[in-house]
Amino acid sequence: MMKEYCYNCDADVEYSIKEVMIETDMKDAVFSYLARIAYCNDCGEEIYIAGLSDENIKTANKVYRELKG
Ligand SMILES: [Zn+2]
Repeated sequence: MMKEYCYNCDADVEYSIKEVMIETDMKDAVFSYLARIAYCNDCGEEIYIAGLSDENIKTANKVYRELKG
């Protein structure tokens, strides 16, 4: 099991990744995309993971490009 640091617990915790629709506005468009978010298994708070965040930004950019053709 992978562990990441949770600010709320102030400890390395096990976490679960859930796919969540996130609404965002980028430049001149507002749209939703499916983001992968990590949640602490102990307290349920969202955990920041750099790799996931990069992945979500790429997904958002891809959706934006599709919207704009
Ligand atoms: Zn926690």
